Amino acid sequence: MPSPLRGGFGRGWRITLPPSPNPSHPGRGNQREDNLMLKLKNIFLVFIFLGLWCSNSQAEEKKLNIVTTQTIFADLVKQLGGDKVNVKAIASPKFNIHFIQPTPSDVRAVTKADLYVNAGLDLEAWSDPLLEAVGNPELFRGRPRNVDLSSGITLLNVPTHVSRSEGDLHLFGNPHFQMNPENLKIMARTLVERLKIFDPQNAEYYEQNAQSFLKNLETKIEEWKNLCSHCRGQEILSYHEDIAYFAQFLGLKSEQFLEPKPGVPPTPQHLVFLEGYVKKNQIKAIVMPTYYPRAEANKLASKLGIKVVTICQGVGELPNTDNIITFFDYNVKAIQEALK
Ligand SMILES: [Zn+2]
Repeated sequence: MPSPLRGGFGRGWRITLPPSPNPSHPGRGNQREDNLMLKLKNIFLVFIFLGLWCSNSQAEEKKLNIVTTQTIFADLVKQLGGDKVNVKAIASPKFNIHFIQPTPSDVRAVTKADLYVNAGLDLEAWSDPLLEAVGNPELFRGRPRNVDLSSGITLLNVPTHVSRSEGDLHLFGNPHFQMNPENLKIMARTLVERLKIFDPQNAEYYEQNAQSFLKNLETKIEEWKNLCSHCRGQEILSYHEDIAYFAQFLGLKSEQFLEPKPGVPPTPQHLVFLEGYVKKNQIKAIVMPTYYPRAEANKLASKLGIKVVTICQGVGELPNTDNIITFFDYNVKAIQEALK
């Protein structure tokens, strides 16, 4: 009986296939095998495709979902989180951060958030009602998934007692701390530590990004201080107390505001007082972001022959302010030119 195996070892093994079950169709058996192989091949390819799709989806799912109240915080998350995070800011920089009205899509976004990054204090008075609407206690104030960036910041204008008689806002101290680039260093440390806790696999990646961000920021801080060295000691008039930390950074004086108290619009009597104050203190500029009414500031400035200068409060508020560095670049240059 002939062996089904022909050829010796080293010349390749060959299996003799049984004869076609239907001699009238001698090629039919091979064709069936070819079809079977083709089907198996296709199934194999489908499994490979599904495997790749699933692994991509898992990689996508592994990204931390982070929602921030403001665009400047969102940019900080981008700088530190890179491609390991998805980030969305709730408030547009075109509007006053104190008075944002979150939408149902904001509620949906926060519902999916792994981390909620905010200023704490009472800057975003709408934040607690938003978190209540979301209903996830893990994101509430004081919980680890709620990243309060005021942590570790030395606050300005802290009242000796909490009272709304001093205005409707800033009850716990001035909450606009993101306007001092020095504070960004503290905020970056707060954020990176939380990223490392909730995504330990990428801890080293976040730390490296933070180091790189801080190094660049340090260089820019020196540049900004040098650019505006003549600003030190000069006084400005601001619409709202949101300028306090920027003034602190550049050594500017900022003691009077168009608002008589935070959140209270200018009154005729207060504007009369300011007219005398500006003359007496040789103030050269009124500073304000884009979203406050300009009429009173323009009127006062034109009467006194001084300038009204836009100082952004949010990343992306004006063109070419779309990240933390360009945001401060713009603001420092604006005040530097106004106070020449
Ligand atoms: Zn404010």
